[in-house]
Amino acid sequence: MSVILRNIQIPLFIKIETGCLRDIRKVLDEQYLHFEKPLIISEPHILELGGNDVVNAFGQPATILLKENSIAEGRRIAAEVREKGNDLIISIGGGRVLDLGKYAATKAQVNYISVPTTPSNDAICSPVAVLKNEDGVTESINVNMPVGILVDSLMLTSSPEAQIRAGVGDLLSKFSSIADWRLAYAEGKERMDDFAASLALSSAQLIFESFNCKVINLNDPKFLNKLMNGLIVAGVSMNIAGSSRPCSGSEHKISHAIDALFPGTSLHGLQVAFGMLFAMFLRKESIEPFVHIYTLLQLPMTHQQLGLTDEQMAQVLLKAPSTRERYTILEKIGITPERAASLITEYNGFIKHYL
Ligand SMILES: [Zn+2]
Repeated sequence: MSVILRNIQIPLFIKIETGCLRDIRKVLDEQYLHFEKPLIISEPHILELGGNDVVNAFGQPATILLKENSIAEGRRIAAEVREKGNDLIISIGGGRVLDLGKYAATKAQVNYISVPTTPSNDAICSPVAVLKNEDGVTESINVNMPVGILVDSLMLTSSPEAQIRAGVGDLLSKFSSIADWRLAYAEGKERMDDFAASLALSSAQLIFESFNCKVINLNDPKFLNKLMNGLIVAGVSMNIAGSSRPCSGSEHKISHAIDALFPGTSLHGLQVAFGMLFAMFLRKESIEPFVHIYTLLQLPMTHQQLGLTDEQMAQVLLKAPSTRERYTILEKIGITPERAASLITEYNGFIKHYL
């Protein structure tokens, strides 16, 4: 009888160390990887902050500065890569730069290396790129995984605190996305991949347990490394599942709806952090275990803290189910204009006991 196993794609290397960017050639050599003509995508301030270590390691490679993280721009870069014969794309920066790079690399069919400089979301190592289409609406597109990930721990310590808080929010949100996935499975709407789910959940657990304290230094390199590791593991769980399902449920739909209706409201991780509490309220789960972290990190607990009125939040709730095809508590409840308004009134009353 043959042994039945599945193949999963994971990066060849992950290096999280101080100063590792300048050693990128050595890291590639160790993996027997040789690239002749890399293309770098980044932003000027990121290059100054340390990204130039990668640029210098390759001599003067072609470098594209981020203009917009759209599908059109990704296609344009892919065409340039094919025309000029680049054999590798390296993205150095935050989520927008990473998403653009992995999409362009997938389109051009070349390898891709991710060099995240802020631990703000789980796009670092995921098989999904979130980019704007021609209508300005964000889409989640399946892409190839990076061949490797390099993180300079020292660069992480200069991340803005809001980005770090957002990264924690995105990781914590897996408690909600997995609950929604289990719900979809229990109701016969979707298949469950327990291995992917347990990986996503353990990444959230890892960071949840870091907050058994009264104060935390968000710029502590050890904490940042742990956060980065958690975000990478969450990304791998998506690859195992073959979709963003382990990491994205109703709390992400709420955030996608905010992005579509009220762009620029807040950071992704902060929006999903709020979305998680709202989703837990809808699922009638206790938010008690999370109040400490939300208070300590000043994560948003209400839509008002994100700058949204009750009326705007009602629009968000009505829009949220259509943002992704995925069964969650929102679909179970069935959101109508009347239901949205009454749920928001109920939530306002519920959450005020925790503020
Ligand atoms: Zn997310």
